Amino acid sequence: MNDKKHYGFTTTILHGDRQKGIEHGSLHKPIHTSVAFGYADARQLASVFQGKEPGFRYGRQGNPTISALEEKVTKMEQGVGTICFATGMGAIGAVVQALLRAGDHVVSSSFLFGNTNSLWQTAMSQGIGVSFVDATDVANVEAAITDNTRVVFVETIANPRTQVADLKRIGELCKARGILYVVDNTMTTPYLFQPKTVHAGLVVNALTKSIGGHGNALGGSLTDTGAYDWTRFANIYENYKKAAPLQWGLAQIRAKGLRDFGASLAPDAAHHIAVGAETLALRMQRTTANALALAGLLEKDERVAAVYYPGLTSHPQHAISAELFRAHGSLLSFELKDGLDCFDFLNRLKLAVPASNLGDNRTLIIPVAHTIFYEMGPERRASMGIAESLIRVSVGIEDTDDLLDDFCTALEGC
Ligand SMILES: *Cc1c(COP(=O)(O)O)cnc(C)c1O
Repeated sequence: MNDKKHYGFTTTILHGDRQKGIEHGSLHKPIHTSVAFGYADARQLASVFQGKEPGFRYGRQGNPTISALEEKVTKMEQGVGTICFATGMGAIGAVVQALLRAGDHVVSSSFLFGNTNSLWQTAMSQGIGVSFVDATDVANVEAAITDNTRVVFVETIANPRTQVADLKRIGELCKARGILYVVDNTMTTPYLFQPKTVHAGLVVNALTKSIGGHGNALGGSLTDTGAYDWTRFANIYENYKKAAPLQWGLAQIRAKGLRDFGASLAPDAAHHIAVGAETLALRMQRTTANALALAGLLEKDERVAAVYYPGLTSHPQHAISAELFRAHGSLLSFELKDGLDCFDFLNRLKLAVPASNLGDNRTLIIPVAHTIFYEMGPERRASMGIAESLIRVSVGIEDTDDLLDDFCTALEGC
């Protein structure tokens, strides 16, 4: 890309790798399936292995198709580098695997994607301390920090109850204390928000969700924003300190997180995600507008007990959401009034699909406590603000009137 000109979000994604030069003038980066990479000169193979010159070693650590997607995500987040993984959980798992040791401490938002919560439970069983706090107020994060705290972990808009973390102030706190700030940006995507702007050092994106956008490929990524000073991180091994400090984190994550852990993104999935990413901004404009309209409709309906969507002025973090995000996201959740059966309601919907995914083009809807948050049990659910009747909606790109009609009709049957 011509560095002198600053292109907009979509132009950058659309033309970025082509302007860099794709083999044979292909407009899409081809799907490279080769696991191995042959070198005519054996010394060159050795020097690639020793990190003395760029090149590919073995498919588990990356290939040209994956690299092209990594560059795209880096541009979207305005970071310094990205590593892709097989899934979003692979990316978050790599943070634990590559950066934390027994005896370390993590402060995590208690409002979390269920599987991330489960991952922290595993980390605790392996000797890592995790304090769960209400991250909508920086004071709770600050109170939980100890001398061993290496990482503070939050989601931008929490899945599924849509609490918005006190992102800016937590960022300032982490910066002052030299703690690595990891922000899961899945719910906002880099189109709505770039965590770099609040001093996040690492950004998680579940590429499976809105970035890929079509529910046809799993993927995840970690982006180093360049905001964190890795010389302040206690757990970098000497091996990964050879390059400039800006590269220490990703060097260790690529080796200890991706190479050793093995949750590598498949090249065909990388292709699907890269194609999906071209329309991220367009899709987000539509889904966020649909979500706002649907949240407004549900809030006015007498059969609905509560609606959680940061775009509603009744949402406790509406002001922060309006200040930081370009729009308020595509995810909302709500509770029906006592005595109304959420399964009957779901079964009356004709368009919204009962399914566990989000960021799809289709509106997907799920009874949270009975499915994705079932395993954690009622006590932990209550502590996360998950009512037994909570319904999560991942709003798609359907025509707004059709979507609202679908919900109106299903509510009228209550
Ligand atoms: C889905 C999701 C993940 C995990 O992504 P997968 O690709 O499904 O592993 C992580 N964080 C959030 C907020 C998510 O919604």
